[in-house]
This record gives sequence, structure tokens and C-alpha cells, in this order.
Amino acid sequence: MKERILKELNQNRRSFISGQYLSDRLGISRTAVWKYINALKKQGYEIEAIPNKGYRLVTSPDVLIAEEVYPLLKTSVLGRKVIHSEKLASTSLLAKEIAPQQQEGTVVIAEEQTGGRGRLGRKWYSPRGGGIWASLILKPRIRPEKAYQLTQVAAVAVVKAIKETTGVSAGIKWPNDIIINGKKVCGILTEMNAEADAVNHIILSIGLNVSPGQEDMPPDLRDKMTFLDVECGFSVSRKGLLAALLGELERVYFKFLEQGFEAVAEDCRRFSVLLGREVRVEQMDRVFQGRAVQITGDGALLVQTAEGRVEVISGDVSVRGVYGYL
Ligand code: ADP
Repeated sequence: MKERILKELNQNRRSFISGQYLSDRLGISRTAVWKYINALKKQGYEIEAIPNKGYRLVTSPDVLIAEEVYPLLKTSVLGRKVIHSEKLASTSLLAKEIAPQQQEGTVVIAEEQTGGRGRLGRKWYSPRGGGIWASLILKPRIRPEKAYQLTQVAAVAVVKAIKETTGVSAGIKWPNDIIINGKKVCGILTEMNAEADAVNHIILSIGLNVSPGQEDMPPDLRDKMTFLDVECGFSVSRKGLLAALLGELERVYFKFLEQGFEAVAEDCRRFSVLLGREVRVEQMDRVFQGRAVQITGDGALLVQTAEGRVEVISGDVSVRGVYGYL
């Protein structure tokens, strides 16, 4: 019902609409209308109320609730259902829990994560309203061994959405980090639930830093991380960015499903900040250095070492530039 009231208010932003009109149109009492208006105010909507004239929506908050995101979406599957929370331990945890009952494309979003995680359980800093902290539930009909490619599919979409929304050219530090001016602006985490030869679901989590707000960055991240606002010099609307991200992701994801990773690989190469550079590869059991020379049609990173070419598959490695973080 709140959503319907908001729709009415949004359609009549230039004029006042009376409580009576809303009550007749939506078939609820005027007291109920008043209660919903108050609930919207609590969510951050600025609504002018004048006796005998009615209500007028002045500004909407930049929160990632369904009512704000749906009108901006141009997708047919991704984000058609938004589950929004003010605070979660992690969006990925909730997404994993509910995935079996949810349709593909459902997205879990939190304004703040208290226990956000990256790969290998590393902490992901997710301050309140500071970014897009989201986990998408995907149910692709692909073989489980292809699932790691989705990380790079998402990375391409993030780079495109950043460009579209801010004009800034970001790069991909293979396979899962998005970099601007040598600092990390976004991390991507792909977690799979599968049988031996079929995927049940994949949780694609994206942490995209937008605005530092009032909070001090953790000291250990200060030189490593950045925010979109800082890089583009204006205040980025998170809901607009989320809609752009879901739009790009749907395009690249469908392309991947229809044509395979090969069709996305060229964008991965184009946006890569590693190709042509010296890198250090850390795997579970060994560490080696070499020059990143190619991203293959399967999404592996080819590294030229003194001993020959090594094909590095995502998931069990982390790659760092030898001269600092990149
Ligand atoms: P890696 O960069 O090694 O692939 P992850 O992608 O799993 O690691 O991300 C976790 C790491 O990212 C943390 O160990 C920390 O260094 C860094 N980090 C944590 N929060 C943020 C953030 N909001 N923005 C950028 N980097 C972050």
C-alpha cells in the first residue's frame, strides 16, 4: 500500500493531492493514509502536508528500497524483486538462506553490513549508506565448472555501469576487483551451491563504494580503497547506479548464457589493469612472478614466467602487482 501511495505522490509532484482523494482511490480510510504518509516520512521522504490541500512529495531519499529502485529498472529479470534491510550481518548470508525459495534475479540489499565478507572470509567494510552492498540470486543453467566466469561477467558490468553513471573509466584487476586510479572501488564475490553436474544457485555479491560519508575509513584501507563520489567529483545517486548496474549486468549475463564466456572475454581484456604488467601470483601452495599476457576465452589469466606460460584459474589465487597494490 505504501508503494501505491508513493506512486500517486510521484505522479503528482507539482500539486497537492488530498487525503480524501487518496482514501477514495486506494479504498482505505483517511487515518490509514495519514499513517502510511508518516511511515514514508520515517523512511526519509520529505512530504509537505497542508490542511485542506493535502500532501505533496518534495524529495525522495537515496535509499535502495524497492519503491525507489523499481521505477528506474529497465531489466526483465534482475532486480525485479528487491529485498531491502537497514542492517544485515551480510547480504550474502541472507541470500544463501532464501535462495531455494526465490526466483532468479532477486536481489538482497542492505544499507549497512556488520559482517560483510570478501573472498576467503576477508572482511568487507560496508558503512551505512556508503555504497551498494548487494547479493543477487542467480540460477543459470551452466556447468558448475563455468561458475567462476560469472565473477568476470559481473566485473565487466560494474565497469560499464560506472562509466554510464559517472563517466569515469574503471579497470578490472583480474578476476574480481574494480580499480580506479590504483585503488579498489568495488569487490565481487561469487558463491555457488551445486550438484556434481548442475548449479542450484549462485550468489553474486557486489560491494561498490559510493560515498565516504562522515565516517573515517579504517586505517588499513585508507591507501587501498576509494569511493565513486571521490573519483568523479559529484554526489552519485545510489539508486540510479544500482539500476544501471542491474541493467548492464542483465545484458552481459544474458550474453554469457547465450554465447559463452568467449563473448565477454574481449571486454575483460579491454578493461584489464593487469595485462602487460608484472604480477605476483599467490596460490595455496606456491607463489610466483611473471608478466600477465592474456585472459583466455575461458577466463583464465595467462602469466609468462621464466619457466614458461602458466594458466591461472580464478578462485584459488590472488594476484597483486609487484609494485604495491595496483
Ligand atoms: P582480494 O582483494 O584479495 O581479492 P577480496 O576481494 O576478498 O580480496 O576483498 C577483501 C579485501 O578487500 C579486504 O581484505 C580488504 O583489504 C579490502 N576491503 C575491505 N573492504 C573494502 C571496501 N569497502 N573497499 C575496498 N576494499 C575493501
